[in-house]
Amino acid sequence: MKNRRLVMIPGPTPVARSIQDQMGRETIAFGDPNFVRDYKELISDLKTMWKTAGEVFVVAGTGTMAMEMAVANTLKKGDNVLIVSHGFFGDRFIDICERKGFNVDVLASEWGSIVPVAEIESKLREKKYQALTVSHVDTSTGVRAPIEEIGRMLKQFDEIIFIVDGVCSTAGEMEYVDDMGIDILFTGTQKAFGVAPGLAILWAGPKAMERRKSLGTIPEYYVDFYKWLPVMQDPSKYFATPAVNLVWALKESVAIIKEEGLEYRFVRHQKVAKAMQMALEALGFKVLADKNYRAATLSNLVYPEGINDVEFRNSLRDEGVVVAGGLGAYAGKMFRLGHMGNIDMHDLVSVIATIERALYKAGRHTELGKGVGILMQEMLRDRGQA
Ligand SMILES: *Cc1c(COP(=O)(O)O)cnc(C)c1O
Repeated sequence: MKNRRLVMIPGPTPVARSIQDQMGRETIAFGDPNFVRDYKELISDLKTMWKTAGEVFVVAGTGTMAMEMAVANTLKKGDNVLIVSHGFFGDRFIDICERKGFNVDVLASEWGSIVPVAEIESKLREKKYQALTVSHVDTSTGVRAPIEEIGRMLKQFDEIIFIVDGVCSTAGEMEYVDDMGIDILFTGTQKAFGVAPGLAILWAGPKAMERRKSLGTIPEYYVDFYKWLPVMQDPSKYFATPAVNLVWALKESVAIIKEEGLEYRFVRHQKVAKAMQMALEALGFKVLADKNYRAATLSNLVYPEGINDVEFRNSLRDEGVVVAGGLGAYAGKMFRLGHMGNIDMHDLVSVIATIERALYKAGRHTELGKGVGILMQEMLRDRGQA
């Protein structure tokens, strides 16, 4: 019998049955009062749960589109933007911003570490910036940026719009928009929300909405806040066809999060990450990210000596666990394991057990069950100690 396939890449993540069911529903008119009500409730929940007095946009598209939406609505040609990059996705903002004619400065870290907040602060004193971007979790490195600390530091720079890429963190790592001084936060549905790919979610706090207002007409059309704002405030209005079934799917994901409790969901992600990382380290892998800046949503694991990347990942896939390869200089040297969203104990135990079998087959005869034992021990610790 073939094993069920567990998709443990950093997005798309496993989609719970009840969420799949929403995508399988009969599609109705976007003006149907039932759909309008559902969309409205979704928008309202997202605003309350992530705590902003600003706006939230739920628009068909991916995380990359949301990156573009973030800068297109807050910067104009000739503006200065500081890009803080902790890897591949941090760097993605460089091209997006340069194409739009913004003046780009970049502060980049070594892969695995962060740009110290003090370094960001001194850079900001050199000249006036209109925005700063950072990925909360950079998927290429598994590094979590200290966004709360950056947000606090930014309070002294009134003109700067703080843009946080939450594509690999939102709904898995703690993020409260207004409280943390975030002006724009965005994600895609396929990561820690555990929905299929296809929707972008973007929160724009009051300061970001003010900035949008000051820009007048912007060159972009589809991602213009002002095209979508009337729809977000009254979903019976039309601008461009909403992805009806994905909106329902996201609504179900939010229902699951409410039932779990957002705050508990963050704690669970921390606990899972720690347990997974301890188990994997015991099996001989090295976690790329510095201990103090490790993400809770995924782990980037450098292979022990003698493991062939492609063979190892194929071996995992044959047994039903799909993981992602390393990016950039870490291609062939590392694999990336997502552990975010709606995954449960069955998934975690299976993943570690499968990794143990693949290591065994690759000739590393570590005691079978060692990683699983550590994982279970850590997961049995009570919630308060997570
Ligand atoms: C996945 C990811 C993106 C890109 O999102 P897409 O939905 O693939 O366009 C951007 N930033 C981060 C941090 C990501 O993990």
